[in-house]
Amino acid sequence: MESKFQALKSRLMEVDDLSSAAGLLYWDQSTYMPPGGAAARARQTATLTRLAHEKFTDPGVGKLLDELGPYEESLPYDSDEASLLRVTRRKYERAIKIPLEFTAEVANHTSESYQVWTEARPANDFARVRPYLEKTLDYSRQAANFFPGYEHIADPLIEPRDYGMKAADISRIFANLREELVPIARAITAQPPADDACLFKNFPEAKQFEFSMDVAQRFGYELQRGRRDQTHHPFMTKFSLGDVRITTRSRENKLSDALFTTLHETGHALYEQGIRMELEGTPLARGTSSGVHESQSRLWENIVGRSRGFWHCFYPRLQSIFPMQLGDVSLDEFYRAINKVERSLIRTDADEVTYNLHVMLRFDFELAMLEGNLEICNLPDAWRERFEADFGIVPPDDKDGVLQDVHWYFSLIGGGFQGYTLGNILGSQFFAAALAAHSEIPAEIESGEFGSLHTWLKENLYQHGSKYTAPEIIERATGTSLSIEPYIAYLRTKYGELYELGD
Ligand code: ZN
Repeated sequence: MESKFQALKSRLMEVDDLSSAAGLLYWDQSTYMPPGGAAARARQTATLTRLAHEKFTDPGVGKLLDELGPYEESLPYDSDEASLLRVTRRKYERAIKIPLEFTAEVANHTSESYQVWTEARPANDFARVRPYLEKTLDYSRQAANFFPGYEHIADPLIEPRDYGMKAADISRIFANLREELVPIARAITAQPPADDACLFKNFPEAKQFEFSMDVAQRFGYELQRGRRDQTHHPFMTKFSLGDVRITTRSRENKLSDALFTTLHETGHALYEQGIRMELEGTPLARGTSSGVHESQSRLWENIVGRSRGFWHCFYPRLQSIFPMQLGDVSLDEFYRAINKVERSLIRTDADEVTYNLHVMLRFDFELAMLEGNLEICNLPDAWRERFEADFGIVPPDDKDGVLQDVHWYFSLIGGGFQGYTLGNILGSQFFAAALAAHSEIPAEIESGEFGSLHTWLKENLYQHGSKYTAPEIIERATGTSLSIEPYIAYLRTKYGELYELGD
């Protein structure tokens, strides 16, 4: 059994090597590759991805998993070995159900659809992408139907990103959250908006980076096992547990961009850097779900990085770096500026309060489209109606409405959005649990120390990688199942100080 287990592990390690190499090519493409490399790079990445897939779905892997069944049963559920077998089996069984030709066909279609979208969005031309989107919806349904027996057609599409969460549960959670959020957003946006002009002065980029990377390291991001580069769309990527990179974006005339994208991606990176080395090279060596991953980016970016306590310590330092720009801006003004709430059209620019309303709109629409209750031709109108109901404004065009996000135009419809809002909810839930265990955390944050918080997160979340599913890790770390209460309490306390919220 031992030797079979080792044989499986070496196969998995090779799969990981191929996927990491593909990841590195992608990282290079986004950072330093000259434009002339694009065509060959697309082919190279596709080749590596296909090889990794073929190696993983090889019948030999299935045979080893079968033979190791009794071994798994003889081990404790939470041992590394049993967890590796359990998680690998789950991923293997999913991977072999999707025919390779189907994946290739979808990849061809979505790369075409993406191309058309890049032209249709600036031209505000929904009619151009409509036939592509119709086909994408068709492919999405086909993909779900490789997994018959689902409760909701979106379930098989949600599963690879947020395993253990079903469309019905998420819908219920989101409906409750929406009921709380709409009145809070209404109350805030009825008041005069915060003045955030102080963030839009000229801030030399090198200094912005220096400051934000200093904070990232203070949070616990190790540059010995990481690095930062510049891209248009920020992301975190990992090639091994010893090489976890982030990319960020900066704008000379907008201070918050580099700062908060860095803290966001640092949160993702802390999760990956915190995984135990023993899990290296296996399917366990990554964060467990998109929702839990996003909880860490949101926790470090928003709950810590946009808190008054944090800036109590770091604002004087920021002022000393930018004395001309911020010298006469008080901590209070700055704090209000970085926590400005407004009715904005664009999800990625949205604040903590309204952000989830953007996400829930998309999630609900995905379900409705997959169910056949919302036709693509009616999507722009449905968007305007729902947007008005939630935000009180109507998007003036499709460009900043239904055409704004790349998701539906470059991958399948379903499963791509819920993680953001689950992340906001969970970030507060994990933070509340850390606070209950260590009441000294707020005082530490005020003095620029993050050790107790980071250690609690490492012990309770990060080290385990994918050993536990999201519902399991939430239960283990917080003692209860997913709950929106800590998040609502967090928003009410924080924004209740900044604005009149009513009741
Ligand atoms: Zn993120």
